[in-house]
This record gives sequence, C-alpha cells and structure tokens, in this order.
Amino acid sequence: MKRLKDLSHTATRDTAEDIDAKRLRYVFNLSTFVGGLVLLLFAFRQLESQDQVLRFSLFLASAGVWLTFIYVRITQRVDVGVAIASALVAALSIALVYTGGQNNSGLFWVFPLLFIQFIYLGAKRGLAVSVILLVVFSVMLGNPGAIPADYDSADVTRALAALITLMILATISEFYRHHSHLALSTQHTGKVIEAVTDPLTGLTNRRFLDSFFFPDCMRQESAHFPLTVIACDIDNFKLINDRYGHKKGDDVLVSFAAALTDSLRSSDVISRVGGEEFLILVQRANEDSAREIAEKLRACVEQIDVEGFPEGITASFGVVVAQHYSDLQAAMVTADEYLYRAKKEGRNRVVSG
Ligand code: GH3
Ligand code: MG
Ligand code: MG
Repeated sequence: MKRLKDLSHTATRDTAEDIDAKRLRYVFNLSTFVGGLVLLLFAFRQLESQDQVLRFSLFLASAGVWLTFIYVRITQRVDVGVAIASALVAALSIALVYTGGQNNSGLFWVFPLLFIQFIYLGAKRGLAVSVILLVVFSVMLGNPGAIPADYDSADVTRALAALITLMILATISEFYRHHSHLALSTQHTGKVIEAVTDPLTGLTNRRFLDSFFFPDCMRQESAHFPLTVIACDIDNFKLINDRYGHKKGDDVLVSFAAALTDSLRSSDVISRVGGEEFLILVQRANEDSAREIAEKLRACVEQIDVEGFPEGITASFGVVVAQHYSDLQAAMVTADEYLYRAKKEGRNRVVSG
C-alpha cells in the first residue's frame, strides 16, 4: 500500500492543490489584465479633474497591476503576484474612500474591490485584510473633516453596514467553496486510486500503467529512462491452487507481492498484469544492474514463507532495458519472450538479453 501512496501523485496529477492553483492563476490573469485596463480608462477620465491624488492613485494602480501581470507571466510566481495585487487593490480602496472618487462615488467601488480580496486570498486571509480595511475606512469616514471626500452621513452608515454584510457573506461562501472543493477532490482521488489498484495485492494494475505511468514516461523521459522492464510469472501456480485451494493461492499472491515490494525502491513500479503475472519497471537502471535486480528478486521469492504452505515458491523472470520511450513497447514484448524462455529452460531463473 505504501507504494501506491507514493505513486498516487502520478495517478492523480490534478490534486486539490493543483486545481486550486490553476483557478487562482486564471482569476489572477483575468483580473489583473481587465483590472489594469479599467483602471487606465478611469485614470484618463480624471485627466481634466483637479483631484491629483485620485488621478495619481489610478495611474499608479493601473501601472502596478500591469507590472504584476507581466512579472507573473515571466516568473510564474502567482503567489507573489496575488500578494502584490491584493496590496494594490487595498491601497486603491483606501484612496477611493479618501478622495471620494468621481462625484463622491468612491464608496460604491469599494464593494467589488473588497470581494476581489476574498477571491485572491481565500476566506481566512480575505477576512483579515477586510477587517483591517474596514477599520481604516471607519477611521476616515468617522473624521469627515480630515478627508477631501464629501459623503452624506446616512450613506456612510449604510455603506459600512453593507460592507460588513458583504464581508461576512464572502467569508462564508469562500469557506464552503474551498471545503466542498477539497471534499470532491479527495473523493475523486480515492476513486482514481481504487481504479488503478489490484484489490488482492494492493499493487498497481494494468490500467495504472496504460493511463498514468506510460504517459508519464513519454512526458518525462529523462526521469524514467533507462527503464528496466522485468516480466515475471510465478512457477506452477496452477499446482498450488490445485493442491492447497484457491484461498491459499491468494495468500501466496499476497506474500509474493509483499516480497517484491520490500525488495524494490518505492519509486519502482510493480504491477499485477495477470493472475500470477507481474510487470516490474525499475527506473533509471542500466543493463548491469537490471540482471542483478532480477536475480535479487528471484532469490527473494525463494525465501517467501506462507503459513500452512510447506512448499517453496519460485518464479521466472525476463529482463530487458529500454533506453528510450520509443523502445518501451518492443522491450515489453521481448521481456515476455525471455520469460517464456526461462520457463522452457526449467523455471526459477532469469533470462536477459
Ligand atoms: P507456469 O510455471 O508455466 O507459469 O505454470 P502456471 O501453473 O503458473 O501457469 P498457468 O498459466 O497454467 O496457471 C496460472 C493459474 O493461476 C491459473 C489460475 O487458476 C491461477 N490464478 C489466476 N488468478 C488467480 C487469483 O487471483 N487467485 C488464485 N488463487 N489463482 C489465480
Ligand atoms: Mg505461472
Ligand atoms: Mg501465467
């Protein structure tokens, strides 16, 4: 089971974190691209106005958002980009409340800007930033003489109440979105792992190889190759079933799988591809070590001790090293041929090229 846990990332490439990171990247790209454009339009509309602070803030925010967008395109550091964008949005919100924006409409624009904080930062950090902003807004709005904006005092109270409501709703919504996403993702991961696992031995199955491991070999050739392909088949397994019953046969298969697992590294792949047939894929192993590994496995199988089963177990092995992904299919066919030869030559042996 340990092995499957190690391999589960290959089997479930899109983990909850990956999907969430992708969502954040899309949202960041779209919001900074469109946001930068909108801020620039607003800034140009303010060219004639006397409000220097507002005009300067809008130009600065627009340039900052665009630069952050470019920075993330180059470095791929979405986390840093999001932190900068969040700080810019916070600064713009404060500037809008302070100046009043155009015709004292600044308070309206604080609503979408506060919501963006939750999209960027999630429930907890979004709430923390909103609380700080609300305190800053309250101080400014509580001292109308100290700011250039001229708000109606009844509007100020309503705006603050509505902002607090928005903050609570956004926190609840973001919190449950995140948790339901995690729950769905965990459920999905569990089902994928189940589909690529052999229920008897806990090893991976053929579907894991075809759907996940081989495509991964193609994508990341240098991480896997040279790849040693070992085809392996338990000797005279039918006799074991016939003499001791199917249940004892199953016990032998479980012990056999455990012995292989213990003898190999967790990065190596052991797959049950047939009843008592296994495919072992040892990553980054050359010709010399390939035969050595197979010999080690053969000797280790001889040592397997199954309770209530006095006869020893042996297995035969066919070994081929695939240098590149393009050799892989041919290597598997040849490994099978070598395995067949090992059987013909008397079983309990390794045949390699
Ligand atoms: P050889 O040395 O040539 O490989 O002979 P063998 O008897 O191992 O090979 P054969 O292919 O004739 O028999 C394989 C047997 O494995 C037949 C089948 O009943 C048994 N088998 C397949 N799957 C399972 C399983 O899940 N549990 C048990 N107990 N037996 C199984
Ligand atoms: Mg067999
Ligand atoms: Mg067989």
